[in-house]
Amino acid sequence: ASAWSKVPQGPPDAILGITEAFKADSFKEKINLGVGAYRDDAGKPYVLPSVRTAEDKVVASRSDKEYAGITGIPAFTKAAAELAYGTDSAVLKEDRLVITQTISGTGALRIGGAFLERFYPNAKKIYLPNPSWANHNAVFKDSGLEVEKYRYYNKDTIGLDFEGLIADIKAAPENSIILLHACAHNPTGVDPTQDQWRQISDVMKQKGHFAFFDMAYQGFASGNADQDAFAPRHFVKEGHNIALCQSFAKNMGLYGERVGAFSLVCESAEEKKRVESQVKILIRPFYSNPPIHGARVASAIMNDPALNEQWLGEVKGMADRIIEMRSLLRKNLESLGSKHDWSHITSQIGMFAFTGLKPEQMETLAKEHSVYATKDGRISVAGITSGNVKRLAESIFKVTG
Ligand code: PMP
Repeated sequence: ASAWSKVPQGPPDAILGITEAFKADSFKEKINLGVGAYRDDAGKPYVLPSVRTAEDKVVASRSDKEYAGITGIPAFTKAAAELAYGTDSAVLKEDRLVITQTISGTGALRIGGAFLERFYPNAKKIYLPNPSWANHNAVFKDSGLEVEKYRYYNKDTIGLDFEGLIADIKAAPENSIILLHACAHNPTGVDPTQDQWRQISDVMKQKGHFAFFDMAYQGFASGNADQDAFAPRHFVKEGHNIALCQSFAKNMGLYGERVGAFSLVCESAEEKKRVESQVKILIRPFYSNPPIHGARVASAIMNDPALNEQWLGEVKGMADRIIEMRSLLRKNLESLGSKHDWSHITSQIGMFAFTGLKPEQMETLAKEHSVYATKDGRISVAGITSGNVKRLAESIFKVTG
């Protein structure tokens, strides 16, 4: 018999299934709101002009293809750290940040999970918001951590269950690991306010909890990279020695280039050295060292003041288009006479909106209106354009009454 004759058939990926159904639909005005990638107002993938320029520079430099070090390209990780923590960050000045380049945000999460599994001195269990990005569960389970949930989303208000969140974080045993989405929570688009972040930081400090930040959308939420980094920066200022995962997939549109970083704030420069040595030992047998091209492009942008300025403007352009589509969708629904409260469409932030639509309604949207998105009612606002928003609103109106 074949060695694999007992391998069971696994379930298909939820998002890929949507893409397939979308492709199979022959209706010209079909709408795909499943994908988690930015689209321009013509519904097309978007390569940032700053990325094109940086890429030309990288190619023109005729650099060799030698291996990067285990932790990647230093000019890239240095700039990534400054982007996340701020150029004036005490952690950087005191040389107590360990940072490594990673295979985008997913790779950062996986390295972080593996490091915690190996070295975290307390319970090897991570608390995820409910709901969270679907892949978090698998990444941390495969890292050998136990996965638990804390309350996050309130179905009735289509907003944050702040009391539930605080209660669950308080109820978790001391020194628990808590995963926090730094901004643009996926899938809900619901973020704590700055004041709520301060309270979360206080409670976590009282309990000695460890903050593990996933920041996959810096700049993409509000359009301002500093504002979007408020939560991790505030935690660090308050003395939390956080872990942080960064992705450049969304904010630089470098999806397939797999550019990311994982960092750990340490107590001292001496501790940093020890931790860094172990991060290297961990990465070496994983993939030896990271790919160079995407990180060179990101580095060429961030280390050139004019190009960096241009890039931040382009990030803001993407964020602004998404914010505008939210407001257009809401306006269209309201002018159709919908009796529902659609204020959450505009109060939520980032690439996704949690509409509050039920699985049956999402199914009708797909079957009768050729509007495709996940069953949980999440729509990718990046898939909305000024050309399709009217038909989308009409379809949602017909389905929700
Ligand atoms: N975390 C969250 C919350 C995300 O939404 C994503 C992208 N969908 C990622 C991490 C990682 O994405 P990537 O590996 O493409 O950087």
